Amino acid sequence: FTSAIVGVLVALSIIALVLSLVKVEDVTLPPTVKYGMVFDAGSSHTSLFVYEWDSDKENDTGVVSQTLSCDVQGQYPPASGSMLPCVFKWEQNSSAAGQVLAEVTKTMREYPVAFKGAQILTGEEEGAYGWITINYLLDSFTKFSPKTHTWLRPEAANIFGALDLGGASTQISFMPEGSVMNQNEASEFTLYGYNYNIYTHSYLCYGQNEMLKRLAKELIAESAPRTRVRHPCYPRGYNETVSLSSFRTSPCTNRSDPRLPLGDREVTLEGSGNASVCLAAVRELFNFSACGQSPDCTFDGVSQPPLRGQFIAFSAFYYNFKFLNLTEGQPLAVAREAIERLCTRSWEDLSSSYPKEDPKRLPTYCANANYILTLLLDAYKFNETNWNNIFFQMKAGSADIGWTLGYMLNLTNMIPADAPARVKGHMP
Ligand code: AMP
Repeated sequence: FTSAIVGVLVALSIIALVLSLVKVEDVTLPPTVKYGMVFDAGSSHTSLFVYEWDSDKENDTGVVSQTLSCDVQGQYPPASGSMLPCVFKWEQNSSAAGQVLAEVTKTMREYPVAFKGAQILTGEEEGAYGWITINYLLDSFTKFSPKTHTWLRPEAANIFGALDLGGASTQISFMPEGSVMNQNEASEFTLYGYNYNIYTHSYLCYGQNEMLKRLAKELIAESAPRTRVRHPCYPRGYNETVSLSSFRTSPCTNRSDPRLPLGDREVTLEGSGNASVCLAAVRELFNFSACGQSPDCTFDGVSQPPLRGQFIAFSAFYYNFKFLNLTEGQPLAVAREAIERLCTRSWEDLSSSYPKEDPKRLPTYCANANYILTLLLDAYKFNETNWNNIFFQMKAGSADIGWTLGYMLNLTNMIPADAPARVKGHMP
């Protein structure tokens, strides 16, 4: 899903040293610490990230570190997806988008920073920048060999793929064997002297919050005109009331459905905690039949080359699996079993076992986890064998994994197209 971002860059000179050089040799330039700030105004939250690096190491890999991350209070856009319809409107009405971004720009210019711009990213850009972030942080682009004083060509096998699950959309990005056939899904980068052809696809309305909304709408439509509807993914003893009009005002559920009664009536979703029925209901959210027998197709007729290498699954992939204690490389069978067990627990049992957990989020873990399984296995085509190539991770070192760092590296031209050169001193 598109993210509105505000990139702000600050350059602060911390120390300035004057070096008197007498002979030609490798030298260290005067270290200047620079800072970059990136705001991520996503569909469900807004965060600020601050990065820092030494200017004399700008072209090296792995020198940018995260100084701070912070969820912005009094959010812009506000929390809980309420800005989502506006963001969809921005896309449909580019002059409105321009006005909002102009407003952000005006405000940011009042701060004593070198403001670089506010932009709405496409889903594919979000995916590609997440891929850059991961491989930058994990040092997979290039390695300097202190022994030979040369930059070593990275092994294709060491490049990671990226799996991001947001509130409104989800992205998959990886370097396939051979080239990407469909140009819409191809991104090409030259980084440190090497070319990378990346496949990246973003599925709008397949983020976690929108999936939950689509699931509820589907369950209600199937049992219409009943006003009490069983929800197989919610725990027994848990009830949630939704108004039918909420589906009409939300971009992923506003398509008219003749099965849904008109008007503004309320429907109560009653948890029935049934793991297999839940999995089947979640599967219904995907149009797998649009792929026919084609093996290189996920759903809705979207093509995807065969998976390759290891992947980092972050954002909501990580949050849900962390809750289930499934981030330590557990085999697929163990994950399936843990998810099944969670889905059968009653609301009474769950809410007393997890008193600190957000009571709005706790009943959704069963649906989220089954959704993640369906997306990874049935759509993307992971299986028992390559399941352990997926690492559920939110951080690399002390930096968060997400699109913001990759975006900043790109904005500042900090990943050069050419291999980094060693700086030579000169005769004064
Ligand atoms: P975004 O804000 O687009 O990055 O989306 C993040 C998604 O993760 C949203 O669906 C959030 O509701 C969800 N999320 C955030 N924190 C947690 C958590 N602790 N457990 C499960 N899901 C979470």
